[in-house]
Amino acid sequence: MRFLALLLCLVGGLLSAAPAKQPNIVFIFSDDHAYQAISAYGDARKLNQTPNIDRLAKEGMRFDRALVTNSICGPSRAVILTGKYSHMNGFYNNSNSVFDSTQLTFPKILKKAGYQTAIIGKWHLISDPVGFDFWQVLPGQGVYYNPPMKNAQGMVKTQGYVTDIITDLSLDWISKRDKTKPFVLMCQHKAPHREWEPNIKDLGFDKDRVYPEPPTLFDDYTNRAKAVGENDMTLEKTITPKDVKLVRPPQLDAEQAGVWDAYYEPRNEAYRKADPKGADLVRWRYQRYMHDYLACVKSVDDNVGRVLKYLEAEGLAENTIVIYSADQGFYLGEHGWFDKRWIFEESVRTPLLVRWPGVAKPGSVSKALVSNVDYAQTFLDMAGLASPAEMQGRSLKPILAGETPADWRKEFYYHYYEYPQPHHVAPHYGIITDRYKLVRYYGNGETKTDLFDNEKDPLELRSYFGQPGYEAVQADLETRLAKLRTDLKVPAVDDEYATGAKKMPARNVENVGKNAGKKGKASPKAPEAK
Ligand code: CA
Repeated sequence: MRFLALLLCLVGGLLSAAPAKQPNIVFIFSDDHAYQAISAYGDARKLNQTPNIDRLAKEGMRFDRALVTNSICGPSRAVILTGKYSHMNGFYNNSNSVFDSTQLTFPKILKKAGYQTAIIGKWHLISDPVGFDFWQVLPGQGVYYNPPMKNAQGMVKTQGYVTDIITDLSLDWISKRDKTKPFVLMCQHKAPHREWEPNIKDLGFDKDRVYPEPPTLFDDYTNRAKAVGENDMTLEKTITPKDVKLVRPPQLDAEQAGVWDAYYEPRNEAYRKADPKGADLVRWRYQRYMHDYLACVKSVDDNVGRVLKYLEAEGLAENTIVIYSADQGFYLGEHGWFDKRWIFEESVRTPLLVRWPGVAKPGSVSKALVSNVDYAQTFLDMAGLASPAEMQGRSLKPILAGETPADWRKEFYYHYYEYPQPHHVAPHYGIITDRYKLVRYYGNGETKTDLFDNEKDPLELRSYFGQPGYEAVQADLETRLAKLRTDLKVPAVDDEYATGAKKMPARNVENVGKNAGKKGKASPKAPEAK
């Protein structure tokens, strides 16, 4: 009798505590979208307007310190799916890693709990998606125009512009879902990834605007470790004729090619005639890069608008959480660079905007140190599910609800591995706090440490490592960095690489442990940004 009473009490408690209805989750994720190119983040250059993405900030929360654990495409995606750092999920780099799809991911857990799950767009993890009721993805990097896609049945032809197509497929999937169940949709854009190829209807959208240059466009890379100046991702040396549209992409059909030529050819002719050199050439390339990159962003923003409109029209807006983020940050000419990879601000920091009606206060801003390693646990928490112990992040739900826990992280661990190809960015790891970054570069022939002080040097142009007055700060950061590496179970072999005691081998499947022997092979070609 007592047992029955206890049981009834328990059931009653569970019923009263149960959420009214599990929310839907729409995760809109782009590739290489710099926060500087989202007007809600208010970049000093005022590069563009993104009214639709900005709506998520106005109607929800904007995160100003969302950092990635390893600033590169595939690894960021693996971190998001698993809630684990690269050294735990096995996907270190784009060159050789293959995603071990037998491991636990948040879509698998949501699916098991009754969610319908889908991923549409860029996947970039080599092995096929697992844990999704529906998937249709771009093979590898994918292409911008008329992109072939792959689903469980095989290859699929498409016609049109990639960002529109990914959105069309996403809305189509939502419309055909089982309306009795909640859903999670990962709508993952290729844009605005290199080679930054705009929708042809958006060519000239900026009316030949001359964009303000970043103050560090001509950085000389002094006062920091040699590694900083050694990398190969500059507008000056690395960018290709294809990147700056001096060569027409081969995927365009005849009609598309005509529009493309009508826009680019007169401008390319003027460029050839002027034949700029040196700093003028860098400036010309920066302007062309901004036109193309921001045109790609315009299309992403227009398509975010389509998704928001659709959710409203279908009466889904109130019970659907919409998240906008990217796989990492990106350089828009800062330090003379494009691409990402570095622990430095433009690269390590990614946009994160969340609209959660009834939970996240409209127009709220969080400056907490959050990360893509937190997304999996956040999505599980949104669905009212516990997260497995192996995940290494923390749910953002309390922050979204306006209560940042007192013991929220005060320091963040970063680790980048891919070297030497494709961009000769030395492997490095480090600790990031509100004010400081301590970064250790290794594997490029010298092990060096830099210390950045955001308060004195927000553009990260000089290292204070070993400078008088920084002794206590340095010692404190070293201690906290060592603790982070222990807590996150960073393998000891990384220490040997870091001290130079062991030479870092070329990355191959042996380095990615469990992935060895999995089907699929990364593209062997190296000199392209991933
Ligand atoms: Ca990326």
